[in-house]
Amino acid sequence: GQCIAVCPTGALTEVNNVNQVWNALDKKDKTVVVQVAPAVRVAIGEEFGLEAGAISTGKMVAALRALGFKYVFDTNFAADLTILEEASEFIHRLKEGKNLPILTSCCPAWVNFVEYTYPDLLNLPSSCKSPQEMFGSIAKNYFAPRVINIKPEDMYVVSVMPCVAKKYECSREELGQDDVLDVDMSITTRELAKMIKEAGIDLSNLKDECFDIPLGESTGAADIFGATGGVLEAALRTAYEWVTDETLDNVNFTQVRGFEGIKEASVDIAGTTVNVCVASTLGNARKVMDEVRAGNSKYHIIEIMACPGGCVAGGGQPYHHGDYDIIKKRAAGLYNIDGSKQLRKSHTNPAIVALYNDFLGEPYGEVAHKLLHTHYFDKSKVYANATTETLEVAEVTA
Ligand code: SF4
Repeated sequence: GQCIAVCPTGALTEVNNVNQVWNALDKKDKTVVVQVAPAVRVAIGEEFGLEAGAISTGKMVAALRALGFKYVFDTNFAADLTILEEASEFIHRLKEGKNLPILTSCCPAWVNFVEYTYPDLLNLPSSCKSPQEMFGSIAKNYFAPRVINIKPEDMYVVSVMPCVAKKYECSREELGQDDVLDVDMSITTRELAKMIKEAGIDLSNLKDECFDIPLGESTGAADIFGATGGVLEAALRTAYEWVTDETLDNVNFTQVRGFEGIKEASVDIAGTTVNVCVASTLGNARKVMDEVRAGNSKYHIIEIMACPGGCVAGGGQPYHHGDYDIIKKRAAGLYNIDGSKQLRKSHTNPAIVALYNDFLGEPYGEVAHKLLHTHYFDKSKVYANATTETLEVAEVTA
């Protein structure tokens, strides 16, 4: 995934889906819905002269509405949902003492890498779909039929992602129901900026607007998904409270923050020491996973993101030209949003609580399994002699 940002082949393989989104917005028979990933809101301003890390959420929402999207929703909502499912799955595996460590599964470049490189360990990635896909599934299978009374196939879901690999993820056939894919089209932060410019809108001068509800509500735990360590921190906030039945007063797991390629920490949860690890880049992932394969790993949870620093540095973001200060400012923006929110634990999101009460039932239950979980494939035969580098290129061109 990060290949596009750091290697010249990115320029040759970059796909542009802007016209498809314009065409979808013109279709009268489709309800076009958009979701935006956390990392986009702290980077898109750079395309309009704002500082890296400037929090542009409200202006971005206003721009999306002006472009003609019927509902402007937030991938963050689904990030909170992912945490409820993934924390439940982790607790389940911990109790059984099986299939540990659990590996995060929200980065498609990483998921692809596991399928090619560690097909013997496919019991380890969380079966949770990524937030992009959970969002699409809930939009089409809940919001469409139950809230606005349309068929799933009459809804067109666009995602705005910091990522080029998300384009490939949304085309994976198993990520949908009855031949209706969860997400129809994924565009990058740069492509959204292009659309806004084509429409003659100056994002920096727009008045702030709010996401639509209910799929626009989120907690601070969701915002930090965009920085390395954030998914793990968000999962710990929920797992801790669920296992101990106590309120976690200090929700900041600062040990897993920052830009080192491999970070680790130990957290006491009701007398059990939970060892966690965070790796970013596929090279670091390989180091951690080789230990797991060899049976030498002490970890219970491992978060892996393909891009160095996580999605804030994604290949679909405004170019940073190797300037890591830009990446750090974007990450700081996300931690600022988290810190400024009243609700910072995914399981306290009232829209998520209502979704389980009205529709999903229990986290990790039957309906959740059908709509929010997936499975993986052994792809080792496809690229039998692949290296990390060739896989990254394969990912970008897939
Ligand atoms: Fe995409 Fe990079 Fe984020 Fe992975 S870490 S989801 S490749 S932006």
